[in-house]
Amino acid sequence: MEVKICSTCGANLLGTGYVMFPCPECESEIYRCFKCRKLGNSYVCEKCGFEGP
Ligand SMILES: [Zn+2]
Ligand SMILES: [Zn+2]
Repeated sequence: MEVKICSTCGANLLGTGYVMFPCPECESEIYRCFKCRKLGNSYVCEKCGFEGP
């Protein structure tokens, strides 16, 4: 089973709420936990390094 981690804080997302969306640049999947989503923390794409809100 694939382990998913939050792109922003690195938290393990297994068993917690999270959102997945495609990177605007390279369309690879980015995961973010509810906490970071709520706080509006920026994320960094692992593949292309894109930074977004
Ligand atoms: Zn997070
Ligand atoms: Zn990307």
